[in-house]
Amino acid sequence: MHKVPEELRGTVLDFIKKYGFLGFVTALPTTADFITYESVYLPKNHFIKKKSLTTENYLAYFYPFDKPDFRKNGVDSGWFVTDHEGIVITMAMGNAPQAVAMGLQKEYAERYDWLVKEFTGWAFTFMTSFLYHMDYDTIDEQTRSLYRLGISAFGGISPTYRIALEKDLPVIVWDFHSLLIMVQMCFSFMLTDKDSDMRMCKHCKKAFDASRKGNEFCNQRCKNQFNVYKSREKKKGNKRDD
Ligand SMILES: [Zn+2]
Repeated sequence: MHKVPEELRGTVLDFIKKYGFLGFVTALPTTADFITYESVYLPKNHFIKKKSLTTENYLAYFYPFDKPDFRKNGVDSGWFVTDHEGIVITMAMGNAPQAVAMGLQKEYAERYDWLVKEFTGWAFTFMTSFLYHMDYDTIDEQTRSLYRLGISAFGGISPTYRIALEKDLPVIVWDFHSLLIMVQMCFSFMLTDKDSDMRMCKHCKKAFDASRKGNEFCNQRCKNQFNVYKSREKKKGNKRDD
């Protein structure tokens, strides 16, 4: 969250060089099978301000360089692939949601500033929720409501779900129609689950995985440093009292 822009750019590009694009499809239409319609409708989001636009104009956001071969013909609309790699992907994906297939086309691209905005938004939500509880007793009501307002900027899109029969019990099956929705939802569950191991270090404010319950620091050094600062502050306070 606090990385300087050049450093952040390097980190994100390194990630993409290694793993490829995530196929997030930021700004996802409300309907899962949006490609078969003439227009798409977008829920409130941080990226495209228009509520609706033609499907073609929407797709242009994610194919700014080369357009994929795409046949638009009502319910028979689909990606037209001829190269070997594309055919393998299309066959493997079968009935995958359209946004997933969209992100796997080789012409697919995502705006760098959108990705950064999405990642920064998650970091902000994560940090705000921890600071709110950590500082709750020392901040006034106005500051608390600022924190709450900050959290409400988190934009999560609901996935759909169905029920399936397993051997023992019926289970809920989530239908995520893009990677973005899945990450958003798992993140929301982790953030609100008090048994989650995801924590923010009390000293360096970085996220870490708490292996032991009640761990407040990412490592021993942060714990020591925090205690040193705290005892120094205490000493200063005592002197003032004298
Ligand atoms: Zn730390």
